Amino acid sequence: MRIGVLAVQGAFAEHIAAVERLGAEAFEIRQLRDITEPFDGLILPGGESTVMKKLLRELGLFEPLKEKIEQGMPVLGTCAGMILLAREIDGGELPCFGTMDITVKRNAYGRQLGSFVCEEQFAGKDITMRFIRAPYVSETGRNTEILAVHDGKIVAVRQDDQLAAAFHPELTDDSTVYELFFRMIEKKLAA
Ligand code: GLN
Repeated sequence: MRIGVLAVQGAFAEHIAAVERLGAEAFEIRQLRDITEPFDGLILPGGESTVMKKLLRELGLFEPLKEKIEQGMPVLGTCAGMILLAREIDGGELPCFGTMDITVKRNAYGRQLGSFVCEEQFAGKDITMRFIRAPYVSETGRNTEILAVHDGKIVAVRQDDQLAAAFHPELTDDSTVYELFFRMIEKKLAA
């Protein structure tokens, strides 16, 4: 299983370390030529979504990656990565890939609660979640499965081959989110 991690900005190194720790292969996607070899899954990391959005276009990565997601390549978006997947961004900002039927609110917890750690259920299992100037999901479409809620707000969702979390699974030891993502990839590979 070979997973590409968007590495133009943000917490990509931590995702690569986590994927490798769990026994899969990860590589950095920095430019177009990095995606000429086949791969099986895509991770969009946390960072600054507005910067990533701009760099994706400038580097010519936007169209080919959007196409891969639309064609069903399993994708995991965390924090800013979730914002990149969202069909709508609260406040009218233009979406990036817009492939996931969710509306997100950016920097949704206010300044004081900008960063925090909590324990919540993810797909029925208690895990530690680390939030950093995180978004939450304010609306979901009909095909979107809600996987986690914190403080009454949706913080993890799945829609077919797309998985998104407002928190940072790459910054804790818990592998639950990756395990689900790996299962999504395995299922695809077996199909
Ligand atoms: N606040 C960031 C954004 O809106 C997301 C924060 C993060 O990814 N840790 O892009």
